[in-house]
Amino acid sequence: MLKRLIAEIKDCIFPVYCLGCSEEGKLVCTKCFKKIDPVGVFCCPRCRRRVVGGVCCDSCSRFSPLSAQISLLPYSENLLAGKIITDFKYNYLEELKLVFEDLIKIFVGKNSELLKNMDLIVPVPLHARRYAERGFNQAEIIARQLGHELKLPVALVLKRIVYTHQQAKLSREARIKNVAGAFELLENKLLAGKKIILVDDVFTTGSTMNECAKVLRLAGVREVVGFTLARGM
Ligand SMILES: [Zn+2]
Ligand SMILES: [Zn+2]
Repeated sequence: MLKRLIAEIKDCIFPVYCLGCSEEGKLVCTKCFKKIDPVGVFCCPRCRRRVVGGVCCDSCSRFSPLSAQISLLPYSENLLAGKIITDFKYNYLEELKLVFEDLIKIFVGKNSELLKNMDLIVPVPLHARRYAERGFNQAEIIARQLGHELKLPVALVLKRIVYTHQQAKLSREARIKNVAGAFELLENKLLAGKKIILVDDVFTTGSTMNECAKVLRLAGVREVVGFTLARGM
């Protein structure tokens, strides 16, 4: 909370520059915002093949706890959307939160068919220690924005029980090992038979999303659809 307050005060005192074109005024100027197009990335969560609606392809469905993976944009550190996501992860900035909100609204408007008939939204949790360091969970903020758009409840039913190293710097194998057994269920009432949208900021190898989806499936969840702002390609 203090971090958030400091960030807001800083915002008021120091001038801000657009993350896209460096123009003074806003973190994401209107011109640059218009260039971010949440076209959607619809690829199988396991083999990355392009598939309609991001639905897990036939050959992968047996091995994938995620039945689909939907992302708003392809992820690249160098692209504006990537910069916004990274920047927000470490600094709570109201202005960037509103950018996400707009992108989600545009995406849901265009793809309402894809996310209908779902029951519940569950964000990927942060470990309590990391939550205390950051003061907020980006995935939870995205989940609440999506919940607002889809008029679905958000449930914090997962808990991160292992303080893991940051995934970004690890190889694919190391990532899978890093998150194995890292999550557990806080409560499982109401989960059996439900269709859940699991939310995170970025889907890279999918190891974190898969681990969370596994825990949910074990609790009797019928279907888990992954939703992230961006997908590493
Ligand atoms: Zn700009
Ligand atoms: Zn596949």
